[in-house]
Amino acid sequence: MPDCIFCKIAEKQIPAKIAYEDKDLVAFHDINPQAPVHIQIIPKKHIARVSELTPETAPVVSQLVLAANRLADRLGIAEPGYRLVINCNPGAGQSVYHLHLHLLGGRAMKWPPG
Ligand code: AMP
Ligand code: ZN
Repeated sequence: MPDCIFCKIAEKQIPAKIAYEDKDLVAFHDINPQAPVHIQIIPKKHIARVSELTPETAPVVSQLVLAANRLADRLGIAEPGYRLVINCNPGAGQSVYHLHLHLLGGRAMKWPPG
């Protein structure tokens, strides 16, 4: 997708601090972190939002979560805990229309989220 900032990060056309990469996924540190650890984990394939997943594309979400779990371990936030977030559409705060899983940790999290 030509104007998608996360596609550009996946294709290394714009810089990001990469935390993990494999053939299907890229994870990078958020440019405006909301916690001491705030990483975006994305599929390399462009999917605009979680509501557009199909039975064929939905397995990528398992890959995102497994990568998040490994990163949480590696970055030392698995204990006391971390939060995984997917925002869908403007009312939920989605601002980048390329599916991404937020991994947040390193501080106490409140509930309900704002
Ligand atoms: P959302 O609001 O759920 O769509 O989340 C988008 C996230 O992407 C926000 O937390 C932004 O800070 C982050 N973000 C936007 N542009 C960049 C970028 N170039 N590099 C890293 N993170 C970004
Ligand atoms: Zn994209």
